[in-house]
This record gives sequence, C-alpha cells and structure tokens, in this order.
Amino acid sequence: MTRPLIRAGAVLSTIGALIAAIVLAPAPALADTGVRIVPASPIGEAAVHEVTLVLVAPQGVAPDFSLADAVRSVEQVDAYYDRETNGFIRFEIASSLDWSTPDEPIACSDFGAVNAYSERVSGFERGENRHLLTLVPGRPECGGTAYGGQGADVNSGELVFQPGINPTTIAHELGHNMSLAHANAVRCTEGWDFDNTAPRPSSCERVEYGDRYDNMGNGYSFWPASAGTLDRLGLIDNEVVPVCGAPRTVTLNTMSAPVDAQRILSWSDPTAPRVQYWVQYRDRADNDLYRDVYREPGLDPAIHASGVVVSKADAELALLSGAVLERPGDASDRNQLLRAGERLELSGGAVLTIDRLDEQARTATVTVDVPCPATAPGGDLAQQAVASASATSPWTTVGAVNDGITAAPGWGSWPAVGETWVQLTWPQAVELDRIDAWFDADAADEDRRGLIPPRAWQVQAQLANGAWQPVQATAEASRDRDGFNTLRFAPTSSRAFRVVMQAWGDAEGEGSSAVRELRAFAPEPVTPTEPPVVPGDPTPPAQPGDPAQPSPDTTPATAPAAAPDRATDEPAPRTALARTGAPIGPWAASGAVLMLLGIVVAASGRRGARRL
Ligand SMILES: [Zn+2]
Repeated sequence: MTRPLIRAGAVLSTIGALIAAIVLAPAPALADTGVRIVPASPIGEAAVHEVTLVLVAPQGVAPDFSLADAVRSVEQVDAYYDRETNGFIRFEIASSLDWSTPDEPIACSDFGAVNAYSERVSGFERGENRHLLTLVPGRPECGGTAYGGQGADVNSGELVFQPGINPTTIAHELGHNMSLAHANAVRCTEGWDFDNTAPRPSSCERVEYGDRYDNMGNGYSFWPASAGTLDRLGLIDNEVVPVCGAPRTVTLNTMSAPVDAQRILSWSDPTAPRVQYWVQYRDRADNDLYRDVYREPGLDPAIHASGVVVSKADAELALLSGAVLERPGDASDRNQLLRAGERLELSGGAVLTIDRLDEQARTATVTVDVPCPATAPGGDLAQQAVASASATSPWTTVGAVNDGITAAPGWGSWPAVGETWVQLTWPQAVELDRIDAWFDADAADEDRRGLIPPRAWQVQAQLANGAWQPVQATAEASRDRDGFNTLRFAPTSSRAFRVVMQAWGDAEGEGSSAVRELRAFAPEPVTPTEPPVVPGDPTPPAQPGDPAQPSPDTTPATAPAAAPDRATDEPAPRTALARTGAPIGPWAASGAVLMLLGIVVAASGRRGARRL
C-alpha cells in the first residue's frame, strides 16, 4: 500500500517554491554512531536556596572564626553548586546572626540542642529551599562531626549543624538537605563487579563513603561530582548511551569539561534493568577546577592521577547515589582509576575496554559492548536500535523516540514540512510486523502552526541494495493524538526501518511532524490454531491455555523498588538514628526526613573533621 507523499493539488508560488526547496532540502541523516545522546532531565525545581546562617558559641567555647569567614564559605559552596549544576542549584544568605551564647548550658556537640536554640533565636521557618545553617566553633568540645538533615528531594530544605567553616563539608551537608546520598565504593576481592541478579556476595564489601572523588563520599575537596550524584538530581546532560549488540567506541570528555559536554557513558544491565552503570573520565587536572574557589589544605597529591571511573547503582542503593568499583587486589589510592589497556567484564555481560587516555585533550576513549537483553517473541525492539532522522529541531533529540519514555519531550522537525522521516537501525536484521508511533502535537489541525500529527505516514524497510520500500500494511495508518498509532504489516526483515511522514503543514512553520515515541514489535509467536468445529457439535473444544505471553503494551517498571534500609550488613560506626527502618525510595517523595548519620572515619587522617 502506498500513499502520496505530497498532497495532490498543492500549489506554491515561484518564490514560495524556491523557499520551500531550500527549507525542504533534507538534512543529512545523523550518523549511525551506535549511541544515543540523552539530555538532562532535572528532578525537582531550579532554585536559589535561602540560607539562614547562625553562629552559636555555647558557654565556655570561644569563637574561632568570624561571620565574614562563614559568609565566604557559603559563597564558595554556591560557586561549587552553581558550576556543577549549571545554575540549577544556587545558594544565598537570606539572613545571618553573628555569634551568640545560649543562656542555658548546652554541650557544643549536642547538635539537637544547638539546632533548637538556633531555630529559636533566628526565627527560622522550615520550607522549600530554606536551609538553617548553624555553625559552632571548630574546637574539640564541639565534637568535630557535622550533620545534615536528609531531604526527600532537592527542594526540601533542612537543617545543617557543623563545627567550623570548612566549605566542602558545608556542601556535603547541604547536599543531604537536597536529597543527595553518600557516594559509595564496592570493593570485591574476586573481580571488579558482582552479579546484580543475586544478593551481594561476601567477597564484595560496600564502603559507604568510599568514592574517593566525590564530595558526597571521601572526596574531601571540590571535585566535579560523580555520575551517581548528578544522576540523583537528573542533571547528567548529554549522557552517552550505547546501543546494545555491538562494540561502541566513545570518547568522553573529562568531568571538568563544560557540564553539557559528553562526559558520562551509561547503560543498564541487560539482565537487571534497574542496575545502572556509569563510566566517566577523571583527568588529573580536574582537581584544579575549583582552585580559585577553595583549595583543600593537605589533600594527598597521590590521588591526583588520571583514569576512567566506573560506578553503578542498583536496588541495594535505595538511599545512595552510586558506588564506584575498585580494582581487586589493589589497596592503593588509585584503585578506582582504570588505566589504558584495562578490560572489565561487568555483571550482565557488558565488556568495557579502556582504549586511550589523553591528558592533552583531556579525554578518554573507551569501547563498551553491552549485550542485548533477551527479548520475548512479540516484544518491543525499538530500544535496541539507533535512531536517526531527516531533520531535527536543534532543541530536540532524535534519540528520544526510542528511549522507552512516553513522556515528553520527543523528537521534532519544526519548522520543516513535506516529507520527514525517523529511522531505527539495528546491529543486525530484525523481523517486525508492527510499529507504533506516538505523534506529538501542540496545535489543532486548523491552526496551521507548531506541531501537528502528519497527514499521512507509512513504514519503509531498507532493502539489501540500500533502497527503501514500503512495507505491506494491513490497515490504514491512523493519526490520533495522545497515544500510540499502531500500524500492522506483513512480517518484514531488515536492519533498518523508517517511519516516513508527510507533514500536515504546506509551508514552513505551519504544522511540522513530531514523534514522542516509537515501538517496533517482532511478530507474536504462532499459537495453535483452533480446531475446526465439527458440525453438530455445539461446544467448541476448549482453547489451549493462554501461554501468558508478555504483553507488548506492558512497560517494564523503571523505578527501582523502595528497598528497606539495611543496617545488618554494614559496619556500625553510627548512631541509633542512622537507620529508621522507614522505606525510603531512591527519589523518596514521601516527605519523610531521615537524618542520615554515619560517621566518616577519615582513614587517611587528611583532616580532623568528620561528616555525617
Ligand atoms: Zn554525609
């Protein structure tokens, strides 16, 4: 079945035709690079967070810094988050109270009593994006341990108590206020990784603050944040996602490159889709990124090396951002940095090879081969393909059409009209008999502007000689809004299929095609046909039992289940407040506040201050 791709009778003026010819000249298709580039999708709202700054010196404890010193620390914290989040998180001091001493005797280390006093004298009111930052002297009587309330989300607002003015610790505790969790390490003795489909083996230990290069872990400095921390805020921009089924070679920028550079490679374990892997390159010069903002004294220069860092998040990390993997059998400070030539076999069968580190260009080139998940017959194969398009609005990305996410945004071609197409290319030939297309629209048909479902569309398959041929559709293609339009066709095998659309608009900007999501289905398995009904027998034989085929409409849950807190398998240098037993999801939205209290023991003795 074919349909005209240009509406019959369309008449354009000579000038209009010239303009149209220029506009309609198809842009070159995006190269089949074997990866998808996924833009950031922030969780929560961008905000300037208000800090109420209160300095408290309990009786008998002399102040050891000034209000101006404390203000400067908050400004340093603001500079750090501003850069790391591209302005999504900012801090400003809404009010400040210089040193005061409570009338009643309070132990300086009693953060509950000090916070209560601080709330009282400041008149602080809890609320979204509001933080009460109470600083006490950095003296031994004050305990040397900082606390931050664990916010449910980035905008929760919470309390911080801290001895002294170390800005990286303030940033850590405010991170808790904004729902950030500790950056872990996983330390295995028999390999880099462990099987995600089984309980973590005894040969692997989880180290709560173990990420040496993240300020939410043991990175006592303003380093570029880890992928897990950024992911918790939805702020990984231009994330590189390899398409499964073949080796994909990717060059990553270092983490101190601009935040919209391609800095992070990510995929989910094909055998455990809730488990996310991240690969990032940390260049030795990353430590200089915030040199003009704040320089941590005494930072061990031995960790200033370049290397690729691999981290993962799985269901075990309900309240945690991610865990960096460590080289087995290597107790050195560099066991989290992969070197050129190293090869990792990761859980789920992915193989990562470090091809090259370039400290001049500040890039790392890696190759990853992620096996495709086993697909049931009748399953949706779209996410295993690489998407490309004839034309793409610069504010959209074609990879959105097969990211498995049916929420906006998708791909758009505005202001292009005429014929546009979106192509899915697989590593090897696939057999399809159905493609579903969800067309985005923001204007009514009669409005002649914006995005309008195409007036006609068809599916074409690429032949072995490279030419394109329409599939044999079994019905008209619908153009409904607000949902998938299903096109069924005779089973067709090819490496590449296109959805070819004829725009609704006749002139530029008057109605372009846009696709939010595509699904591409392999044929259902052949089920036994119903035996013929014998004349005279009023009762047909019973149907064979429904083999309970997976429904192609069933979208696998992507959000990890809320895992119960697990205190039993972790070392216990923490207070009873540490784990409440409350189920806290990874993006806990319950509003529950959990004071996350785990004492970091600065094993290296780099500094005296501890954080919780
Ligand atoms: Zn902490």
